[in-house]
Amino acid sequence: MRALRRFTVRAALPEPLLPLSQLVMNLRWSWHPETRDLFETLDPALWQSCGGDPVKALGEVSAERLAALAKDRRFVRRLQDAVDDLEEYLATPRWYQSLGTDTANGGAPASIAYFSAEFGITEVLPQYSGGLGILAGDHLKAASDLGVPLIGVGLLYRAGYFEQGLSSDGWQLEHYPSLDPHGLPVKLLREPDGSAVVISVPLPEGRTLYAHVWRAQVGRVTLLLLDSDIEENAPAERGVTDRLYGGDEDHRLRQEMLLGIGGVRALRAYCARTGTPAPEVFHANEGHAGFSGLERIRELMESHGLAFAEALQAVRSGTVFTTHTPVPAGIDRFPKALIERYFAGFGVPLHDLLALGAEEDPAKYNMAHMGLRLGQRANGVSELHGHVSRGMFSNLWPGFDESDVPIGSITNGVHAPTWTARELVDMGTQTSSQGDPVEVDGPVHFDGVDGIPAGDLWAIRRTLRARLVEEVRRRVRETALSRGATEAEVGWTETVFDPDVLTIGFARRVPSYKRLTLMLRDPARLKAMLLDPERPLQLVIAGKSHPADDGGKKLIQQMVEFADDPEIRHRIAFLPGYDIGMARYLYWGCDVWLNNPLRPLEACGTSGMKSALNGGLNLSIRDGWWDEWFDGQNGWAIPTADGVADADRRDEVEARAIYELLSTQVLPRFYERDGEGVPARWVEMVRHTLRETGPKVLATRMVRDYVQALYVPAARSARVMSADGYTPARAESQWRGHLLHNWSTVRVAHVEATGAGDTPEIGSTLALRAEVELPGLEPGDVQVQAAYGRVDDADGLHDVTTVPMAHEQTEGSRHWFTATVPLERTGAFGYTVRVLPHSEHLADPAELGVVTTA
Ligand SMILES: *Cc1c(COP(=O)(O)O)cnc(C)c1O
Repeated sequence: MRALRRFTVRAALPEPLLPLSQLVMNLRWSWHPETRDLFETLDPALWQSCGGDPVKALGEVSAERLAALAKDRRFVRRLQDAVDDLEEYLATPRWYQSLGTDTANGGAPASIAYFSAEFGITEVLPQYSGGLGILAGDHLKAASDLGVPLIGVGLLYRAGYFEQGLSSDGWQLEHYPSLDPHGLPVKLLREPDGSAVVISVPLPEGRTLYAHVWRAQVGRVTLLLLDSDIEENAPAERGVTDRLYGGDEDHRLRQEMLLGIGGVRALRAYCARTGTPAPEVFHANEGHAGFSGLERIRELMESHGLAFAEALQAVRSGTVFTTHTPVPAGIDRFPKALIERYFAGFGVPLHDLLALGAEEDPAKYNMAHMGLRLGQRANGVSELHGHVSRGMFSNLWPGFDESDVPIGSITNGVHAPTWTARELVDMGTQTSSQGDPVEVDGPVHFDGVDGIPAGDLWAIRRTLRARLVEEVRRRVRETALSRGATEAEVGWTETVFDPDVLTIGFARRVPSYKRLTLMLRDPARLKAMLLDPERPLQLVIAGKSHPADDGGKKLIQQMVEFADDPEIRHRIAFLPGYDIGMARYLYWGCDVWLNNPLRPLEACGTSGMKSALNGGLNLSIRDGWWDEWFDGQNGWAIPTADGVADADRRDEVEARAIYELLSTQVLPRFYERDGEGVPARWVEMVRHTLRETGPKVLATRMVRDYVQALYVPAARSARVMSADGYTPARAESQWRGHLLHNWSTVRVAHVEATGAGDTPEIGSTLALRAEVELPGLEPGDVQVQAAYGRVDDADGLHDVTTVPMAHEQTEGSRHWFTATVPLERTGAFGYTVRVLPHSEHLADPAELGVVTTA
């Protein structure tokens, strides 16, 4: 029989142990080992069997044990210490508080909303599928460490993503657990009378989607998770938050409406009931959360009587959009007809709403385009990805060079206290015991690692590798049993892997661009390396395929079949069930982290950063973050066959490069030992990686960048726009309408250059005078620029510098502008003149997408 519903019955905590629930309910324990030690003391065996889930452990620990602990004075003292430590963490001013939050004086925002479809904080709260969610989780944790007043907004999926198993023939099996929120470290958001807060989102045909709001506490940061599986809903609506990235377009649209529209409503409810200041900045982590902007437009139209364009002006100013994928198939798009059906009665003019998501295909509504149009500030997640995104979305800014497209980049980071092995932190490799310094402004240094003798560093690496080997053995055994082997047949699993063999990790989701099976290109060669009697390597592999992606599942099956070979199964393993809990062991223990995506489709990649924080050396295609921070000593760059159109040939070339690097560089260096058995040159690479790469990949560095480059400027813009009942937003919107209406008549009529003669010499200058026609506009409405630089055979300008030209004279609608251009370089030189809109409220001159060039 199956239970209709399930819930968790837990023992009442005796009075002296009451603070335990406070500790359990704040997810700071997920990155605070001392608190986890305390939980373990509750009942070490139970802690093991509960997989380190304190809510579960506390739910199952016996009343007798609790009674005994309540009388154990040492335990109660330790408990109090842990609670004091948490309270201090929550209350002390951190980095952000030093910025000043005096809103009247351009201070940092008093609160920021961060929307994401997934959050990966701990394996205990499985609300993530991969990198995007883990990044969101790390963003919240680092924000907490820095004291940034962020509020996360997401959905509570009752089955999470899915749990991965394997069939006997290596096919991915999906299991959808049924998570009971009462067994999770979350609390219901309640009305003052104790009843649950209910959020509603209108659906077509007069239906309504209702949701409860669960609060997770991530250190100082609150995360709100909307849950539709409640009595108030009809059966179809109850299933909206069933699972992450499942279902058809209709289902996904409902999820995104709940996230965006319901999310804003949940925020309003949360702020009102807790006295939290309303967010000034809204950050959409990827396009899924874009409807939050529509809801805010609707709010302003209703509350302040703003027209759509005026409300858009106000909303954009406080919105930050981050795009995460350069894979066109990864962009979220809906049939336009579906949007029309769902938003017909929403309260925002449909025509205007549809324009926000317009793209090349007139039948589609593009969530990334909407994100870019709704966010005055936008970024990609590594320098290379910023570059690729400017190209990918350049048709939203016609007339501009790709380099002018207003999409910047902030390279992702990872949360050191979550991902760094405790032993390394204890050795003092990082500046503070938190592993992730929060008080230091500017560049952070991990100089502590310089004081550690090579032998000690190597000993730690071996300890971490040995721990991974234990974990691999445990998991290989479990997997064999789950795939149908009997106890009598799994004896071999006890000796798989070797704590002294070079260990390579490859773990990530399995979309085709990540090329899970590239290493199998020449199976005989790989096999020979695995079995090399002198210098063997071992490979641990993991990753989930999206349930609807049979191609990905075939790749997994191919990998499993290869690893099933009794001749090599002691050196290679595919471990099902990749999640945060498994990932930690991999990052700690792998010597080399392999990453071979099809460049440039990996927007950033973060797993290699986590490996680097533990002294792992990356062996990676120069894509995402590795393109930026590979420095020749922190690992190896796999040469790419960029531009080779034949995918098969490209795979061949790049796979061969991996084998070559392994056999000529990686393996020799790992096995080259000094008199004490230490691979001195390897350890120097480890040390270099910790010292130089460690500080760059920190999530605190990333969150500081977001605060300084995007959140603070966005808050300023939003404040300006909302002053005096949104008067500036109305004025700016009117100005934009007027400007765009007149733009087609803007013309650079004539440009004169004097001073350079026929054969100009370096060091001389060029005086430019441009005649510009601006019928209907004022000179102050535009900025006229001289643009100059190197020129190619087709007269294309490169390495362009721009200087503003000064207004000199006006005759009717004709205006003259002048500038002096220095000739600083020898060789072919060219210049032009262009006219751009000008307003103090533009974040970027390309923002309005119009430009007129001579
Ligand atoms: C870091 C991480 C990812 C993302 O890894 P990429 O290198 O960005 O693909 C995915 N899943 C888990 C469990 C992770 O820890």
